[in-house]
Amino acid sequence: MAENRYNFCRLCEIVKNIPDDIGEYADRLYRLLDEDERADSELIGSRLKICDECEKNVQGTCLACGCYCLVRSFARSQHCPKKKW
Ligand code: SF4
Repeated sequence: MAENRYNFCRLCEIVKNIPDDIGEYADRLYRLLDEDERADSELIGSRLKICDECEKNVQGTCLACGCYCLVRSFARSQHCPKKKW
C-alpha cells in the first residue's frame, strides 16, 4: 500500500468518536478486516512492543499519526509513520 501523505487511517476514522472501551470495538474492527489482511497475534504483539517503548505513544494513541496503536497494528498493510515497524 502506498504511503498516504496525510497519514490518514481509515480504521481510526471509524473509531475516532468511540468512547472509553476501545477493546470491544477494536475486536469488531479486527474481524471486519479481510482474513488475509489481518495481522496475526505475533505480528500485532511485536508491533505493540515497539509502540510501548516509543515516545510518540501517549496512552495508546500515536502522536505521529493520531491513530490508536492497537488498531493500527491490526492490518498487515499498515505501517508505523516513523518507520519503526
Ligand atoms: S506507530 Fe510508530 S510512531 Fe506511532 S507509537 Fe507506534 S512506534 Fe511510535
